[in-house]
Amino acid sequence: MGLKEEAAHNRKGIEKMKIAIVGSGYVGLVTGVCLAHIGHDIVCIDNDRSKVKKLKEGHVPIYEPGLEALLKKYIKNKKLKFSYSIKDGAKEATAIFIAVGTPSKKNGDADLTYVENVAREIALSMNDYKLVIEKSTVPAATGKRIERTIRLNIPKKYKKGNKLLLDFDVASNPEFLREGCAIDDFMNPDRVVIGVQSKKAEKILREIYKPLKAKMIVTDTNSAELIKHASNSFLAVKISFANALSQICDHVGADVLKVAEGMGFDKRIGRSFLNAGIGYGGSCFPKDVEAFIRLSEKSGYNFELLKEVRNINEDQKAAFVRLIEDKLWIVKNKVIGVLGLAFKPDTDDMRNAPSIDIIKALQSEGAKIKAYDPQGVQNSKSIFKGVTYSKDPYALAKGCDALLLITEWEEFKKLNFKKIKSAMRQPLIFDGRNLYHDDNLEKLGFEYYGIGRGDIS
Ligand code: NAD
Repeated sequence: MGLKEEAAHNRKGIEKMKIAIVGSGYVGLVTGVCLAHIGHDIVCIDNDRSKVKKLKEGHVPIYEPGLEALLKKYIKNKKLKFSYSIKDGAKEATAIFIAVGTPSKKNGDADLTYVENVAREIALSMNDYKLVIEKSTVPAATGKRIERTIRLNIPKKYKKGNKLLLDFDVASNPEFLREGCAIDDFMNPDRVVIGVQSKKAEKILREIYKPLKAKMIVTDTNSAELIKHASNSFLAVKISFANALSQICDHVGADVLKVAEGMGFDKRIGRSFLNAGIGYGGSCFPKDVEAFIRLSEKSGYNFELLKEVRNINEDQKAAFVRLIEDKLWIVKNKVIGVLGLAFKPDTDDMRNAPSIDIIKALQSEGAKIKAYDPQGVQNSKSIFKGVTYSKDPYALAKGCDALLLITEWEEFKKLNFKKIKSAMRQPLIFDGRNLYHDDNLEKLGFEYYGIGRGDIS
């Protein structure tokens, strides 16, 4: 933030706060940069030393539009610092966000090992009042466990018997940003949810977010934690509903795009998240749906609806592969070009990307896979064996027996299909995102297959 803007902020009566953020991944880094942008003093902490080194030099190790420019700006004017030590980093902070990963265990539970480690380290470095804020997505009642971990690990010098001589709070502040438009989502949220157990915690969180002028939803910590799992699971329900619908559309000769449009105009339903495709992926929906199913089981409720949502999602990828196998007839030794690898556009994130299952299934049938993605190639290299990478969509199309559209990057919307067709060995397009639904590719001589367009025969 420039000095002028900073002065403007101060005039508005915003109290600058010293904030530490533990975990400098997609969420932690965006949170740190954006909180610096609205006037706070930030230290971002990560135990990955090579990541911290890159960040200190002003390099963002992930692809997120706009992030690196802001990062450089706030490093330069010293609003944003980096550290790999919680002890050093958190010393001066009033508020400490936990933004480490909460991946799935084999049984679907959220693995909270990183959260526990961080809570213990925060306890050991306590020297004054701290507000510890969960930003990571965690199951309901995790806040209570963090509180207990901190209590148990606070150094002896701050204890008299069972009584603590210093005060702290634990709050929940789930994050709803989307990769690819994370800065805009953070700066212009639909709502900011804070789950607190004390007025002091509420006051601090309100102060932190004051410059955003966002709608604040204040709850207890358990409810705030549940809001995040319930929101992501509900969005997954909508996606799987659209995908189930697409299967019916193909069989009755209806068009899922028209059906979704007709449904979406109903304000009670809405059009968003009703896009049929090859299913949801990414680092959040799959793991959060699983974690919510497990949380429900532990609470004595069998959440069959969510289990079916997950099954539909898995089936959708399998159905896409079946369609390709059917239309290609013989898959062995066919050259298949994959447009898009990342789980969504504008990110390099490959975690649970639908491309993974689809490519692996086709490779197991003997297909030769070529791929192109504007940002996801580097991360995909450790996932795939035997994939060759092309420098652009036209090089990709060369010699292909079929093209698959997997990720709807903006640059894929405006391809020169005449050029693509002349490069391919045979002109088959499988559009996993219905990106080309209006492009009349058949007129150019392609065999075109979308999802749920009622044209599978
Ligand atoms: P990430 O894997 O990109 O980043 C996590 C970071 O935490 C890593 O850099 C890791 O090195 C660091 N870390 C782990 N243990 C540490 C420790 N002991 N000390 C310091 N650093 C440590 O994860 P992410 O995608 O940013 O997700 C973080 C959390 O936010 C998850 O719970 C996720 O579900 C949630 N979330 C993610 C998104 C998203 O779009 N990625 C959106 C909303 C919520």
